[in-house]
Amino acid sequence: MTASDAERAIASIDAIAEARSRVLARIAEAAERVGRDPSSIEVVAVTKTVPADRIRDAIAAGLTVLGENRVQERQSKAGLLDGIVPPPSWHLLGPLQSNKARRAIELFDVIQTVDSVALAQRLSRIAAEARPGRPLSILLQVNVDDDAAKSGFEPADLERDLGEILDLPNLAVGGLMTVGRLVAHADQARPTFAALRDLSERVRARDARLGPALSMGMSEDFFVAVEEGATLVRIGRALFGERPPLG
Ligand SMILES: *Cc1c(COP(=O)(O)O)cnc(C)c1O
Repeated sequence: MTASDAERAIASIDAIAEARSRVLARIAEAAERVGRDPSSIEVVAVTKTVPADRIRDAIAAGLTVLGENRVQERQSKAGLLDGIVPPPSWHLLGPLQSNKARRAIELFDVIQTVDSVALAQRLSRIAAEARPGRPLSILLQVNVDDDAAKSGFEPADLERDLGEILDLPNLAVGGLMTVGRLVAHADQARPTFAALRDLSERVRARDARLGPALSMGMSEDFFVAVEEGATLVRIGRALFGERPPLG
């Protein structure tokens, strides 16, 4: 590494660390408004389209829980991110096709987007072989808004299927996840977040094997999600800047 490479890296780490501080401050303010402990909320830094060297800078800036929405993209950067101590943890945030389930288990610590009983069964089966004795952490994605463009369980289907999923032996079902609608104003996302929290409370009252995690809120609305109970917020642009337009 030349001196100017080192300077560039330091400037990049500083910029991400500042963005992280701003996000954490807004989380703390939102948590305080509703009497929650800010340390109960974790930031998942969403690194889709972010190159591996900037991901290294993000880890150096203190972001140690990272998310990608495609197995392929995570895999293409994995070799460039080897050997980081302690290793960050990786969450899958996008739809998982069943033929990529094995790869996903190798590359991710948490799969946030389990959206069918069939996928849960497959993950449980593969986890038994690939990581015996260590249940795979998953979240169940819920299509709270009944949005045709979104994946996830319909709430009624989740209530029907939950017991069957919780009976699977090699999964740790940490809680629920939702992707909100695109809204013009952050506050318009509130009903979606409140509905996910209500659903979680209702089903957990019946079956406490479902964990309490609520993954909801992104750059535009994470502070509203925190007010409504989010335990995981998934943040890309507020940390890394705008993404290049989809090709
Ligand atoms: C891209 C993405 C995010 C982050 O979105 P930002 O608006 O950049 O914060 C969060 N969740 C999912 C599922 C995503 O695909």
